[in-house]
Amino acid sequence: STVASKPLLPEVAAFLQRGTLGSFFGGQEVFSQQGNTIATLDPGSGETLAEVAELNSDEVNRAVDVADEAFRKSGWATMPVNERAALLHRLADAVEKNKEVIGQLEALDAGKVEAQAQGDVQNFVDTLRYFTDMAQHMSPRTTLAVRGHEAWTVRKPWGACAFIFPWNFPFLLIGWGITPALAAGNTVVIKPAEDTPLSAIFLAQLAKEVGIPDGVINVVTGRGEVTGAAFTANPKIKRMSFTGSPEVGRLVAQACGQNLVPVKLELGGKGAAVVFDDVDVPETAAKLAAAITFHSGQVCCDATRWLVHKNIYDEFVNQCVDRLKQVQVGYQLDGATQMGPVVNAKQRERVLGYLQRGQEEGAECVLAGGPAEVEGYQGHYVKPALLAGSLDNVAAREEIFGPVAYLAPFDDESQAIEMANQTDYGLANSVWTADLGRAARVAESMVAGNSWINAHNVFAHGVPYGGVNKSGMGGGVLSVETLLDYYRSTSVVRPLG
Ligand code: NAD
Repeated sequence: STVASKPLLPEVAAFLQRGTLGSFFGGQEVFSQQGNTIATLDPGSGETLAEVAELNSDEVNRAVDVADEAFRKSGWATMPVNERAALLHRLADAVEKNKEVIGQLEALDAGKVEAQAQGDVQNFVDTLRYFTDMAQHMSPRTTLAVRGHEAWTVRKPWGACAFIFPWNFPFLLIGWGITPALAAGNTVVIKPAEDTPLSAIFLAQLAKEVGIPDGVINVVTGRGEVTGAAFTANPKIKRMSFTGSPEVGRLVAQACGQNLVPVKLELGGKGAAVVFDDVDVPETAAKLAAAITFHSGQVCCDATRWLVHKNIYDEFVNQCVDRLKQVQVGYQLDGATQMGPVVNAKQRERVLGYLQRGQEEGAECVLAGGPAEVEGYQGHYVKPALLAGSLDNVAAREEIFGPVAYLAPFDDESQAIEMANQTDYGLANSVWTADLGRAARVAESMVAGNSWINAHNVFAHGVPYGGVNKSGMGGGVLSVETLLDYYRSTSVVRPLG
């Protein structure tokens, strides 16, 4: 099928032309035995991109068997770390070489602006290289001091690790999730979201091409509840990682608790941006408007509550409205587009529903938002919106996951901190001020895994990223601690003489 107004890259067209795509494990494409599939759609046009295998739990268990067997028998886990690193660097090179192809596949599948999707692919490559190199410097054995004894601790990979991912940053999050596990010598089973399976399947095929042993990187596609239940009930899964909503995260954590499997949760957010009255108002408004429209607001660490000092509140609001009205909503492969569609019809209903419920509960409508029409495309487009009022409002409490920000004025620093912390979430916040002393105070006082100063959504390898409270648990990602999570340790002690 032709899905875009612009010609697709030949590699993308060829990939999609196959019509039905399998899961990929044990080095081969695997289809549902009953022939079940789930269509994956282009959110910008509503058209079907491909049918993708919908596996049942027996088929998911087979993928886990494959990953477990590859861990024990393929040599991956016991390979000298430099040899494993060489293979992972070959994978990084291959992904980088295919940046445009994977970027376009991802743009089509997730509704991402194409240049941003390519940025996600580069981020995957950088993450893979970062953890691959770090693992080469991890001492596999540490000597311990015990009087009269020889003692040491040895680090080993766990085994087969399972990963469940959401649809908003499919490829980038696979990178953040699986690369430390692989670098440490584990094998992985990836479950991409139903809406966005394409880049994961492409990756698994690429891994085979560069010579990663079969069974090391496996992808299962299908329904979350089926796959999730199969993973958590399978004793061969030694570690579980889930990125997605708190509602599903709770189910995964419960099942992992039942089976005593260590779990890492990266969940939603309801971040605050605290804006003091000494900022450059147009510049700050422009940056926050850009942040809330980035990937149509489907960003877990977004600032969705904008807390603004009363002295500049009106001016700030006017500037934001101006900026947001200018945002070019369009098809994601159109070069002029600044904001693409949301991921599916359900997500669009969710966003529109919160706008309505927020106003029913008394929020002021500052910028109406609502459905957007993009000529020639039957996609799921919405316009940016702004609400204002009490932080008790449903639209100020719950994660909307769309281009919607909620405004509220504050009087002073302590009130601003209190308001920023008036949430069950704790992923990421920002503070905007010219006073760097105040910036540091506020940044440290907001309860979350991450605080930015005069910026929002800045990531770097080596800077831990992850939430607290309802936003997650298990240590987060992107740092040395993340790599350490993917080793278990055994302490050995013997008397001397
Ligand atoms: P979701 O929780 O609906 O789905 C996430 C994944 O879980 C999907 O692959 C889905 O198939 C699977 N799933 C569904 N039911 C399951 C079950 N019963 N057991 C196991 N797995 C199941 O989330 P979503 O709508 O895909 O993504 C949006 C959410 O993800 C938002 O809350 C967002 O904030 C969060 N998110 C967090 C981060 C982070 O790093 N903290 C990053 C991106 C997205």
